[in-house]
Amino acid sequence: MPRKKLIAANWKMNKSIPESVSFIDNFKNSIKSTKIKDFRDTENPKDFPVSSKNEIVICPPFASLNEVKKSIKGTKIKLGAQNMHFEEKGAFTGEISAPMLRDAGCEYVILGHSERRAYFDETDGIINKKIKAALKNKLKAILCIGETLEQRESNETKAVIKFQLENCLRSINNEEIKNIVIAYEPVWAIGTGKNATPEQAEEVHLFIRGLLKKLYNVDISENIRIIYGGSVNEKNAKELLAMKNIDGALVGGASLDPKSFAEICNT
Ligand code: PEP
Repeated sequence: MPRKKLIAANWKMNKSIPESVSFIDNFKNSIKSTKIKDFRDTENPKDFPVSSKNEIVICPPFASLNEVKKSIKGTKIKLGAQNMHFEEKGAFTGEISAPMLRDAGCEYVILGHSERRAYFDETDGIINKKIKAALKNKLKAILCIGETLEQRESNETKAVIKFQLENCLRSINNEEIKNIVIAYEPVWAIGTGKNATPEQAEEVHLFIRGLLKKLYNVDISENIRIIYGGSVNEKNAKELLAMKNIDGALVGGASLDPKSFAEICNT
């Protein structure tokens, strides 16, 4: 069975609550005009078509989760968060937990984003704990991994990817891994306007699939989704998504504009 494509919007620390709601309204209008035949909404097919084959996930800031949840009701758009703590509750001022995100209507959570690693000192060990907490609470994890420019230029890309993948997935079993999506996000391509070429991305995706085959089995490695992130926009999405091992995109900057994001989704 072909893997479902997943397009996720990472808004980062952008958009007020009214701006978030207005984005969803505009996005729904933009995507409605799609000519793609498999876009359907079972509840209200004429009103809002969203693909049943593929998935769209919006990850707004925490403050907008509730209003975005209301705005996407009746559509097949899914809600995601950008981060969470690994503990379920307690004295962790300023943090949010997996049960709280479930409560807020999230189905997905982005974990291990390079901005979290760089600015908040998140290690693979911490990310591993977060993944376990997410899965325990029935949240699907979008696990981000990727090398820096320096690492790529010194030919360390594969070693870095292997290290991050093995450590972030430590003691995640064959059942649990099915609720994880891997996002390959070369750090040098994030927010820089310089995307990996489809061939560069495909090479790493194939390598990740090979690692997953060794860590788990061939079935798991063939079914798991590996999405690409790093300056994806409406112009380069088609070529990237056409690659055999690229199963979707994690989109930052271009996901802030409803028209651009709709065009990426329609791709
Ligand atoms: C991201 O933040 O995950 C990302 C890929 O950002 P951008 O699309 O802006 O490079």
